[in-house]
Amino acid sequence: MQKTFSPSSLNCFEKCPKQYWFRYIAKVPVDSEGIEAFVGKRVHEVLERLYHFVAEDMVPSIEKVVYRYHQLFDQHYDEGRIRIVREGTDADFYRRNGVRSLQNYYRRFYPFDGDQTLGIEKGLNFHLDDEKQYAVRGIVDRIARAPDGVLEIHDFKTGKRVPRQAELDTDRQLGLYELGVRKLWNENGPVRLVWQYVLSNQVRVSERSPEQREALRDKTTAVIDQIRNESAWKTKKSALCGWCEYRAHCPLFGGAEAEATVQAAGSAAPPKSPPENHRQTAETEGTTPESKGQIRLL
Ligand code: SF4
Repeated sequence: MQKTFSPSSLNCFEKCPKQYWFRYIAKVPVDSEGIEAFVGKRVHEVLERLYHFVAEDMVPSIEKVVYRYHQLFDQHYDEGRIRIVREGTDADFYRRNGVRSLQNYYRRFYPFDGDQTLGIEKGLNFHLDDEKQYAVRGIVDRIARAPDGVLEIHDFKTGKRVPRQAELDTDRQLGLYELGVRKLWNENGPVRLVWQYVLSNQVRVSERSPEQREALRDKTTAVIDQIRNESAWKTKKSALCGWCEYRAHCPLFGGAEAEATVQAAGSAAPPKSPPENHRQTAETEGTTPESKGQIRLL
């Protein structure tokens, strides 16, 4: 059972308890990755590099940014491993979406001096309660201080859909990040949650009241309790099953035998794809000659 919960793991449980079981309890290894997550990772990597350059007063050209994206795409793309589910699309379609996302972001924020970047891909580990029974972790894409002094928590979204404002105002991921940042950084002033929908070139903002933050804390501890008390781990069929990396094991899709094998395996190795699957948490910029070389190229 997980000891520390990420927003992704909570979402996973609510979406399908069986998928949660495959991923976090049985830890079934996965040998494939959806193209959407793959492109999301590449875009995040390039934006992270971009901000490292900006921090050194070296704003790269848009051509260099796009060049670096193509390079990373080619370096990591493996036809046998990357899954394309949506009919009528191919790898080039998604590659172009990544280019468009980066161009949109670059043109909107160039020369990237509209605020002060305080952190990029910042890891958070904190407890929701003083008794330390409810641990949460996450990685913030970007933390910035806006010109009006407000702390901002930014999230880069590479999917096409832009949720309604009401949905964003109750979004758990950035809401939890706010709780973490307030606690770890002793931030008592206003905090803005900012979503960068880079593919559709739209920005959305939400601010939470103290009551909303308390409600989020309570709702999250309730979900964690539910996971801790779960034993049935039922399947929950939805349109997302098409993207599920455990479909071959899922009893709903004829995977009962595989499931039994997995259950017998018990403590299998952790999945290759992390729950926050657009993240590259193991990667540390500029710590090796190789990564320094990558930075020079952007
Ligand atoms: S295929 Fe669907 S029902 Fe089965 S584990 Fe995955 S999300 Fe759940």
